[in-house]
Amino acid sequence: MHTPDSPSPSPLAHVRARIAHAAAVAQRNVADITLVAVSKTKPAEAILPLIAEGQLVFGENRVQEAEAKWSALREAHPGVKLHLVGQLQSNKAEEAVRLFDCIHSLDRPSLLTALARAMDKAGRRVPLFVQVNIGAEEQKGGCAIADLPALLAEARVADLPVEGLMCVPPAGIEAAPFFALLGKLAADNGLAGLSMGMSDDFETAIMLGATHIRVGSALFGER
Ligand SMILES: *Cc1c(COP(=O)(O)O)cnc(C)c1O
Repeated sequence: MHTPDSPSPSPLAHVRARIAHAAAVAQRNVADITLVAVSKTKPAEAILPLIAEGQLVFGENRVQEAEAKWSALREAHPGVKLHLVGQLQSNKAEEAVRLFDCIHSLDRPSLLTALARAMDKAGRRVPLFVQVNIGAEEQKGGCAIADLPALLAEARVADLPVEGLMCVPPAGIEAAPFFALLGKLAADNGLAGLSMGMSDDFETAIMLGATHIRVGSALFGER
């Protein structure tokens, strides 16, 4: 209960409390769950209060937008880590490797080749998640489940640091079975990272083993 003179918690504090609660219920260590604050479309003024509250991991879905928005912000806040959560065109791989600290959207051999070349050129290995088209949806990005073993094998050959798997389940239906399936695929392939769960379902994702949750509107309001 909030008394009239105790300020209501910030959106970030509220999300943090929900993460802590879900982790406790799941018997998990909250430190094993990374909150990626998805700030796409939001201006610096919306981001600065979160940085002031100690949030240092942010997600963007467009290379150009991230470059424009974050160059000054990062100079002022060198501890910030940027994650790319959106689809990536191969011709933007070099910029992405320079700009981002983690890329959640590796989903095809042509992009793998472009990222490997970009990382060699930059002399920098950027951790990756392989995005899986977990609901086998026609127009959705992500590697088909059947193509996953070959893509992971190719990533090993290219010495790419694949941390885990990422998914965006089909909209409008229960996400839990898809999160469980992603967890099984990761375990089958010896991967520890699971990037899954957004504003509407991150507690479910935590229950099912998410290591990275990507939360936008619960932190920043509707887009
Ligand atoms: C926008 C976006 C999110 C955040 O979604 P919210 O529902 O606003 O939390 C997470 N993941 C990806 C891939 C996104 O594009």
